[in-house]
Amino acid sequence: MNYTVQQIAEITHSQIIGDKNVLIKNIAYDSRIIYSIKNTAFIAINTHKNSGEKFIEAAIDRGINVIISEHQYPQFENITWIIVENSIAFLQKLAKYHFENSHLQSIGITGSNGKTILKEWLYQCLWNEFPTVKSPKSFNSQIGLPLSLLQINNSHQLGIFEVGISHPKEMEKLEHIFHPEIGLLTHIGTAHAANFSSEEELIDEKIKLFKDSKVIIYNGDHPIVDQKIKKLYAGRKLISYGLQKENNVFIKNNISKDENIIVEYFGEEISFPAHQRDEATLTNALALITILKVLNIENKKIVEKINLLKAVEMRLESIEGIKGNIIINDSFNLDLDSLKTALQFLNEYNKSKKSLVLTDIVGVNANSQELYEEVSELVNEQHFDSVFLIGDEISKFSELFKSETYTFIDTRELIESKHLTELENQIILLKGARKFEIEKLKDILELRKHDTVLEVNLNAILHNINYHKSLLQPNTKMMAMVKANAYGLGSYEISEFLQHHHIDYLGVAYVDEGVELRKKGITTPIIVMNPEQHSYQTIIEYNLEPEIYSFRVLELFYEAVQKSGYDKKYPIHIKLETGMHRLGFKDFELDQLSETLSDKNLKVQSLFTHLSSSDMPEEKDFTLKQFEVFEKNSSDLIEKLGYTPIRHILNSSGITSYTDHQYDMVRIGIGMLGESSNPEIQKQLQSVVSFKTVISQISMVESGESVGYSRRYKADHLTKIATVPVGYADGIPRLIGNQIGHLGVNKTLAPIVGNICMDMMMINVENVPNIKEGDTVTVFNSKPSLKEFADYCKTITYEVLTSISPRVKRIYIKD
Ligand SMILES: *Cc1c(COP(=O)(O)O)cnc(C)c1O
Repeated sequence: MNYTVQQIAEITHSQIIGDKNVLIKNIAYDSRIIYSIKNTAFIAINTHKNSGEKFIEAAIDRGINVIISEHQYPQFENITWIIVENSIAFLQKLAKYHFENSHLQSIGITGSNGKTILKEWLYQCLWNEFPTVKSPKSFNSQIGLPLSLLQINNSHQLGIFEVGISHPKEMEKLEHIFHPEIGLLTHIGTAHAANFSSEEELIDEKIKLFKDSKVIIYNGDHPIVDQKIKKLYAGRKLISYGLQKENNVFIKNNISKDENIIVEYFGEEISFPAHQRDEATLTNALALITILKVLNIENKKIVEKINLLKAVEMRLESIEGIKGNIIINDSFNLDLDSLKTALQFLNEYNKSKKSLVLTDIVGVNANSQELYEEVSELVNEQHFDSVFLIGDEISKFSELFKSETYTFIDTRELIESKHLTELENQIILLKGARKFEIEKLKDILELRKHDTVLEVNLNAILHNINYHKSLLQPNTKMMAMVKANAYGLGSYEISEFLQHHHIDYLGVAYVDEGVELRKKGITTPIIVMNPEQHSYQTIIEYNLEPEIYSFRVLELFYEAVQKSGYDKKYPIHIKLETGMHRLGFKDFELDQLSETLSDKNLKVQSLFTHLSSSDMPEEKDFTLKQFEVFEKNSSDLIEKLGYTPIRHILNSSGITSYTDHQYDMVRIGIGMLGESSNPEIQKQLQSVVSFKTVISQISMVESGESVGYSRRYKADHLTKIATVPVGYADGIPRLIGNQIGHLGVNKTLAPIVGNICMDMMMINVENVPNIKEGDTVTVFNSKPSLKEFADYCKTITYEVLTSISPRVKRIYIKD
């Protein structure tokens, strides 16, 4: 944007106090992440939760002198005020005007899942075809969308914007300010569905975005979506994509074969190699190809672009560096917008000294003098202590940079100069175009990695989920049990990953676990298995769904619903007792249960029970009895309720052993972590967890000498002993010391000798070939496996995982 204060006031019918002629190009809404004060106005946004007016002072301190606010604060001098009636309405009015006068081609993306990834992919594919603007991060709300639209400037030819809603009537407001020419509807799932009375209502609301669209591209695998779009938008150019062959754009060949994916687009074939073949990724790829075709990109280019796509790293990576530095690594792509984002991110840190590594901007068709002038202006405002420029192009303009500036031909020259390793207590931003491979700098600057880590392989989780899914009917839903910190692995990280892959439900044990997930942005429905007495209000507040297992819990929870003023039917899950004798309603209670439910504003979302011995073939008769009781009691209850909730019973080993009893949903836990008690199934699963450490020291212990506390091990010959930095405080039971447990070193099992200490233990490594200090030691992964390790501990894999201490760093791997 580029308006004077006067113009802004006219467009939005606001009042001016101060200088009418100041030119405004940016509006900042968060005083902490202002990346540039030049031509920037600060807006104090008031929402029903928060007032941005308390940050006006901080913005003025940063050097801003135009403030948009609902109130004036005369104590600040020499400030121009734009006084508005309502800060959000102001933003929306200005954004609407700006968008409508921008004449750029626009793509609007809505749906439940995949919006952000598709926006980022489209941007990666299109930014060097047309000057393109996009929503930053997942800015898609009543405030985020207008702020995104205001980024449009004269040079942009294409705009890609995400539009997200979570409540009825929201889309109407957003469509009023933004009417995309090309509309894209991604997967419709359960995210945010809770605020709508039905899925249909949700769909109706979302597709309102396309009121003025010329082309509508949508995921046609959803029959209701397909029907509604065809009916409402009959005259438009409609293109459906999806995995089902009835769509206009679909995958022609068998995706499970290891060959190129062949996409059919209105009879035309486009073939490309795909590494990730899960349904969500492939469906998103179909949407991407469809839009690229609509924008007339040639097939050959499309394939090249797909090959270059990188996984979308939503967050810039920030890493602890050597010498007290913080490294911010953004070595993925480089253009002006992403530079701005990185500079914003930098401002979230409080470090007084900072340095920048910046490369040539490649692939942008712009006048380089102008481009680098703009870059240097942005950079100069940050007052970096030193700036390292890499590349011929940018080096030509080094005079423009005011900090201490050094130039290099390539990344290697910078590494050899040793400049970077001299930096101390700084924040160092690495920002470069991909071809310069500045991630190599990260390796040099990064603080030594932790010695003891629990590595969680997210791809393996996906593989294991897909394996279990392949045994089920395609429409059987799946709940992932992420209770107890996702079996010790990290509930947020795992849930976030599963949500991205469209898991239908998440299951936690306690309310706190659900609240943590909601606070961090998980929107998938969450069931709480053990709703505690004083937590019912919190359940409602955070949109969690309780398991109801007794009349006492039912009454208490309903009381809380009434108190909260919740005016729709609150979703609950009824647990039936079928033989486990833990929690649940028994058969003689069902009459009373249906009666009690009938006059309450509650919706039984599901009916379920739990198997006690699904992993024990010898208890098959008992398990079949549980199914029988469940079938009878749930059917009875359904008849009395007069509607049919989802039914579910199978846990992981139930899925593999009793597939016929899958009902409408299954609940996977240990199976997604790659463990099965059935050796045949075990072979199909991938190992998810790797607990490793390194050897701290190797000693030769003389015959007759002892090792560790209480002298429990005595060498009877000269013995090579290694000390490793894990102990019982990390969750290794002390009971497996004294040659009961073994650790893996160089593919050999080495027995633990002596008593295990709190933070360390010793192992006998005399039989391990080529061993040296610093070598990796496997507590469990493949040798020993998690199962073997659990056997040393005389327990089950579940207990091993949930006992690993929080102090062991969890690292998540995704390739
Ligand atoms: C933990 C749990 C599961 C998952 O069990 P796994 O054996 O790990 O698959 C399923 N249902 C309920 C009710 C659970 O508590």
